[in-house]
Amino acid sequence: MARYTGPACRLCRREGEKLFLKGERCSKQNCAINKRPTAPGQHGTSRKKLSEFGQQTREKQKTKRIYGLLEKQFRQYFEVARRTPGVTGENLLRLLELRLDNAVYRLGFGRSRTEARQVVRHNLITVNGKKVNIPSYQLKVGDVIQVRDKSKSIQRFKDVLDVTASRSIPEWLSGDPENLRGTVTMKPLREHITYDLRETLIVELYSK
Ligand code: SF4
Repeated sequence: MARYTGPACRLCRREGEKLFLKGERCSKQNCAINKRPTAPGQHGTSRKKLSEFGQQTREKQKTKRIYGLLEKQFRQYFEVARRTPGVTGENLLRLLELRLDNAVYRLGFGRSRTEARQVVRHNLITVNGKKVNIPSYQLKVGDVIQVRDKSKSIQRFKDVLDVTASRSIPEWLSGDPENLRGTVTMKPLREHITYDLRETLIVELYSK
């Protein structure tokens, strides 16, 4: 799957807010948004007032970037969300939250979603005891996510947990950091997703 490989901080600067794409550095003073809050590029200092279409596009771009997706994959999630009973915007966010790489990040087994994805791809994670190396794997209520036994003692996870220990785990997951394990206890609700996202703008954009 293709993915964006340019500078992560540039994406935050483009959206004008922290998207927390880099883990530890995001909460430090040298975060690029603290140092250079303007948009990247020659005309970055002059932010124009956005049209309705512009606002919808920015909201879509921001959401895609937070979850590390490209357009095609994001659009596929939207189509699934649209066909699912319920509120389309909330369905969309729920599908994104239930990705395996996101759950690994939320449980604190990765400092960023990028690192969580790498952990999954490197065969370090099991779901219900079976090895799963697909970052987009959709979790279900009751699924148990765990770092593989033979990987638990590697220094990498000790270092990661040192950084993520202070992070709170969302209510739809129950975490057991000591055993590098977590369980999906319920479907994520809108209030569990604390990002400042206006998903209705994405629905409006794609419904045109
Ligand atoms: Fe965004 Fe993190 Fe870079 Fe700050 S350090 S600009 S929050 S990716």
